[in-house]
Amino acid sequence: MRVVDLIEKKREGGAHSREELEGLVGGYLRGEVPDYQVAAWLMAVCWRGMLSSEAATLTQVMAASGVQLDLSPIGRTVADKHSTGGVGDKTSLVVMPLVAACGVPVGKMSGRGLGFTGGTIDKLESFSGIRVDLDASVFVRQLGEVGMVITGQSVDLAPADGKLYALRDVTGTVPSLPLIASSIMSKKLAAGANVIVLDVKTGSGAFMRDRDSARGLAQAMVDIGLAAGRRMAAVVSDMSQPLGRAVGNALEVAEALDTLEGHGPPELAEFAVELASIIVELASDDDAPTAGAEDPRSADHSGATSARGQAPHSGAASARGQAPRPGAASARRRVEEALRSGAALRAFRRMIEAQAGSPAAFDDRSRLPTARLQRPLLAETGGYVERLDALTIARAGILLGGGRERKGDPIDLSVGIVLQARVGDQVPRGAPIAVLHANDEERLAQAEHLLRSGLEVAATPVEPLPIILERLLTPAGPPPASLAGQRA
Ligand code: URA
Repeated sequence: MRVVDLIEKKREGGAHSREELEGLVGGYLRGEVPDYQVAAWLMAVCWRGMLSSEAATLTQVMAASGVQLDLSPIGRTVADKHSTGGVGDKTSLVVMPLVAACGVPVGKMSGRGLGFTGGTIDKLESFSGIRVDLDASVFVRQLGEVGMVITGQSVDLAPADGKLYALRDVTGTVPSLPLIASSIMSKKLAAGANVIVLDVKTGSGAFMRDRDSARGLAQAMVDIGLAAGRRMAAVVSDMSQPLGRAVGNALEVAEALDTLEGHGPPELAEFAVELASIIVELASDDDAPTAGAEDPRSADHSGATSARGQAPHSGAASARGQAPRPGAASARRRVEEALRSGAALRAFRRMIEAQAGSPAAFDDRSRLPTARLQRPLLAETGGYVERLDALTIARAGILLGGGRERKGDPIDLSVGIVLQARVGDQVPRGAPIAVLHANDEERLAQAEHLLRSGLEVAATPVEPLPIILERLLTPAGPPPASLAGQRA
């Protein structure tokens, strides 16, 4: 196999076999294929796209490039959740305890915040002493014993993705739908869970600015997971305004704890309950295999490559697609009970303690990192909140010191913004729309100025925005044949 032949094949719109993808990805990882050839191939993928079966195979090849966790010793269905990232997105800190409290082990490898999006690992570090560098054996042991674990992304998982992503970053080849989908899903497949629920965000504070791209990415990732025998669901959710009220690491942790105590923002609680219910429902499907086992229902889809435009229908998709969802209502009842009874809050506390974090903040929020200065931003006119632009609010948070521009930059966990209203809410003139938390007067003044540019109040009533825009729960039809030239 000559790499130049593969580049030419993709340039002409051809589809690769598993053997070709293994040769290319493996050769690159071993240092036998140079950057410039892989860069040319990536650009060809950007323009020509991939069959959905081809993207599924690429993902499996990348997942197999490093350690693949074996979760079978846990003996139960294990769940994972992924968000494409947003502003004020503390969903995992609420959803995962809800799921764990329902008896479904849930484990996740997360990232740090970069650019305008926050990261769960930074948020968790608001609990002093917490360890977020667990190795694979500790990850699996804690999943079995505690039922919930969140740690940093292991470099051993899908190393091909790490190397390819670094090259995409400097060759203008990040925004390709099959490349993004395979990058995200390779790490999810390697992490071993067999229920994976995805939250693909769209709006100014999201990686996917428009809804069509977000839906396309969600569908592509669901198809990749189904092809690998995992139980999958996805939602497309709004990120035109921040999720919940708090934006900033420790402030978001406090909001997640409040929500688990039953007095957080209702829209955040409802969103988390819905996602957790989807996970519990999928994990309670007795028909399906436990972690580590192959799902026979999806065997026909696995790696199958058809002629361009004729990708085969997923066995798993068709089996699930027509099925009613008898377990949905009971899953929701279990999740609501886990919230009401405090079981989810206790599950979260157990995880923090298992990872050597101080649980003091569960009883006393002042034990979280706290900023010295707090200043309200007042509405200059009365009316209805029309815009709380997620990206602008995130940038104001970064100005306060709560985010990083480059990997490894230090951040201030205590600073941020707590919104006092959501789009659609009525605010009187002079009422606080937000409170800024800061440690530096100059940064506070700059952030205040920027924040104001992201807020608009209208004279006439404004419709509130839903959080969940679309649900991809039981794929009703065949996956798209081709992810041709789709750029995010
Ligand atoms: N996140 C990933 O992990 N990979 C991408 O390609 C884009 C976002």
